[in-house]
Amino acid sequence: MSIEQTNNETKKQSNFIREIIDEDLKSGKHNGVHTRFPPEPNGYLHIGHAKSICLNFGLAKDYDGLCNLRFDDTNPTKEEQEYVDSIKEDVKWLGFDWAEREYYASDYFDQLYEYAIRLIKKGKAYVDSLNADQIREFRGTPTEAGKESPFRSRSVEENFSLFEQMKNGTFKEGEHVLRAKIDMTSPNLNLRDPVMYRILHKSHHRTGNKWCIYPMYDWAHGQSDSIEKITYSLCTLEFENHRPLYDWFIKELEIYPPQQIEFARLNLNYTIMSKRKLLSLVEGNYVDGWDDPRMPTISGLRRRGYTPESIRNFSERVGIAKRENTIDVSLLEFSIREDLNKQAKRVMAVINPLKVVITNYSDEQAEELEAINNPEDHSMGSRKISFSKEVFIERDDFREIPPPKFHRLSPGKEVRLRYAYIIKCDEVIKDESSGEILELHCTYFADTKSGSGPSSKKAKGTIHWVSAKDHFEAEVRLYDRLFSVENPESEANKDFTELLNPDSLKILNNCKLETSLRNSLPGEKFQFERIGYFCVDTKYSESLSPVFNRTVTLRDSWTKIDQGGN
Ligand code: ATP
Ligand code: MG
Repeated sequence: MSIEQTNNETKKQSNFIREIIDEDLKSGKHNGVHTRFPPEPNGYLHIGHAKSICLNFGLAKDYDGLCNLRFDDTNPTKEEQEYVDSIKEDVKWLGFDWAEREYYASDYFDQLYEYAIRLIKKGKAYVDSLNADQIREFRGTPTEAGKESPFRSRSVEENFSLFEQMKNGTFKEGEHVLRAKIDMTSPNLNLRDPVMYRILHKSHHRTGNKWCIYPMYDWAHGQSDSIEKITYSLCTLEFENHRPLYDWFIKELEIYPPQQIEFARLNLNYTIMSKRKLLSLVEGNYVDGWDDPRMPTISGLRRRGYTPESIRNFSERVGIAKRENTIDVSLLEFSIREDLNKQAKRVMAVINPLKVVITNYSDEQAEELEAINNPEDHSMGSRKISFSKEVFIERDDFREIPPPKFHRLSPGKEVRLRYAYIIKCDEVIKDESSGEILELHCTYFADTKSGSGPSSKKAKGTIHWVSAKDHFEAEVRLYDRLFSVENPESEANKDFTELLNPDSLKILNNCKLETSLRNSLPGEKFQFERIGYFCVDTKYSESLSPVFNRTVTLRDSWTKIDQGGN
């Protein structure tokens, strides 16, 4: 994979859809590009939708065309305004704009009804009175032809009158359906007289109680594309064998023909992407809502600290394929590391503190030291951090019995405190009964101050620290992958909820942070030196007591590929 950069955006790669468009523009088949993103408002958008958004809005942008936002709201039982609102927020946040073109399939219910009448009058649609089980049974199997319903030969007049009564609420749910009259022996099951309308005595989030018949997806979708004069109707591969039906409706209605093109959906390992399953994680309280930072939803990624740019770059990198594949989630993590490496301010935070007393540093003394905000971007400047007799270091940075090549602190050994001095560990103070290490007594070497020119001493390692006198305490949340297996959707005999990673969230209290973090704002992003990238949680942070979410570790700890990232 080539990872090229232009102005921080990953360079656009060509793909088979762009080739089709280029060809059509050259031949004059189309003189512009008009796409749409058609979410069903029955859940929050996830990273797979982000790929579709970037594709549809991205193509429109690159070809100076248009992309509509269309809510595919044909099912009144599962759709809610909350989802509509979240979808709009997420698409905007990703950096795309549908201007005034916010449409709803339900806006077309009148037009679709009129189209249905047109097919009835042509003898191409009929009211069937078989029940759902019978319809299924008559449908046949992939290897066995279907059987025609005894109601298939109803007259145009009878169909017209029954359909009108269906619409007027004369019948109960399930009593009748409207079906297209195509071919019960077709090898493609989608063409075996698909259902166009069913009766549902349910109120709809936009049309209220106006309708009690609702169109099926296949009937609503292509006609909505046609009404909006969509040139390319891009959808995922599972719709490939719906395409003949898509084209059949358009041809029989003699209306504007959009072109359906299928591409491979995004699959990520360690991740589930079905909205139904994500909803069950929310409803079962396995996670803290749709925007839990471990969720693959756009709102979850946002709360976790992902940037729109990192998600757009990720989408570009995974590319557009014609065949199903699974992308390693570490590629998504790489994209956010790469972005934050450029823009996040480096700070010092000790998440698992151990006190160090510098015995030869005087009690009264205190110093302000210069710390660089981002070595990748000198325009970000520097800040002052305070140093004092007592500091906290990371418990992990001390080992009583160091393993080979341990270049941090251990008894009798020396290490550099970042931006400060080299210290030597003289004594380990323990709790007498439990043996727990309480603090370390060290001495410092006054002539080793960072930035003060050469000194006779060199330390093999440098560790981060925070002044014990001048710091503040905060809660830090360490997130890891939500699932502990690569493919949580296809584990035989196990429900996906049994495959959750028990260590996907660790809450650490009383972490010691440098004081510059005290006033950080929800959503603000940092690199905690040597630990990872963090952002201020937007849900639990209160003024003056921010909660920090770990966005991603500095390096990939799950696979062997180290993709860098400082
Ligand atoms: P899910 O299976 O997660 O419930 P869906 O396909 O039912 O998703 P829709 O709201 O119908 O969700 O999807 C809106 C658009 O997003 C569709 O055009 C769909 O093809 C696309 N989309 C959904 N999931 C993915 C994915 N994993 N990768 C790429 N595009 C996707
Ligand atoms: Mg769908």
